[in-house]
Amino acid sequence: MALFYQDFKLGVIGGGQLGRMLIQEAINYNLHVAVLDPDENAPCKHLAHSFTCGSLTDYDTVLAFGRQCQLVTIEIENVNTEALQQLVAAGITVYPQPEIIALIKNKVEQKTFYQQHDIPTAAFTVTANKEEVKQAARPLPFVNKLATAGYDGRGVQIIRTPKDLDKAFDAPGLVEELVDFSKEISVIVARNKFGEIRAFPTVELEFHPEHNLVEYLHTPAIIDPEIDNKAKLIAIDIVKKLDFIGLLAIEMFVTKDGRVLVNEIAPRTHNSGHHTIESCTTSQFNQHLRAILGLPLGNTALKTPATMVNLLGEEGYTGPARYEGLEEVLALKGVYVHLYGKAITKPYRKMGHITITGKRKKKLLAKAKFVKETLKVKA
Ligand code: ADP
Repeated sequence: MALFYQDFKLGVIGGGQLGRMLIQEAINYNLHVAVLDPDENAPCKHLAHSFTCGSLTDYDTVLAFGRQCQLVTIEIENVNTEALQQLVAAGITVYPQPEIIALIKNKVEQKTFYQQHDIPTAAFTVTANKEEVKQAARPLPFVNKLATAGYDGRGVQIIRTPKDLDKAFDAPGLVEELVDFSKEISVIVARNKFGEIRAFPTVELEFHPEHNLVEYLHTPAIIDPEIDNKAKLIAIDIVKKLDFIGLLAIEMFVTKDGRVLVNEIAPRTHNSGHHTIESCTTSQFNQHLRAILGLPLGNTALKTPATMVNLLGEEGYTGPARYEGLEEVLALKGVYVHLYGKAITKPYRKMGHITITGKRKKKLLAKAKFVKETLKVKA
């Protein structure tokens, strides 16, 4: 099969931790991985077969990078999709498809897609500027989101009082009903060009109360089997309706009255799938490669329940990273540490993650808490 010839080059746009974990899997398929990232010290730098330092949003840079590859994929959606479209026109395979990445990059287009395709999501109104947010006449409190450039909660705010309206985003975006959810869950689903689809077990996301980053992630999610089924069907429905090829992460709200609403989707490997490396038969990274290479998708069965903890840079420390508590944590059974090779730590920077596996829920949670309190990244 042509894919496995030595000269087959997979181009990955973005060289962060997602690319790094993808390379770990690509090695098993003899793939030559070329990486593009603007950071000279990106986590993929020393693992990629070739590394290009350059902007992900610059048309010429992305085009020139992609031209030397047979297949191009992404590990971040903030990329120049016009260049990706041009690569497709030049005969290079790009998965996920550039027009789908472009749609997902824009929250207004994403939400409009849900509305047009009967995918359940929170009620919303599109707004062009601050004035339109004020005019939208949505009952307080509501959520105000930027169409683009939002990431890890930075383009999202809750408008609670009439006074808050003054801080509304003065750029294209939307206002959305504040969902009274009981849980946030995620389903990662893969689809290949033959239309084969597989979903990973549903995970439950526990966010840090202030920083809007996932603090703990639990799988399997403790939810009603009916809700679980609904979430999986929605995820599968979305990849089919998008005609999507690759790996798609679907973040959803479970409302207190038993509805499942799509919050947002990501066209790539995802933070809510890191645990699959140890806890599922096939990891999300392996599955992504299978999906984009047109290979049979792997079994997604859960081997063991797991909890994942993001290892964030400790507050108050910026500089060369130092890891405290590694020995204590590694002495425990079922604890798997993944460091991302970032030389410099900053408050709340994602420096790594730890997956904790175990069959007994109480013990698993206690271990996760211990890991969180013990392993620290300082400078
Ligand atoms: P980002 O793209 O920055 O991750 P999200 O749209 O996922 O932004 O929002 C970040 C978080 O804000 C969500 O995980 C959720 O906790 C909260 N959130 C977003 N939209 C709503 C909503 N409509 N109702 C309630 N909470 C929301």
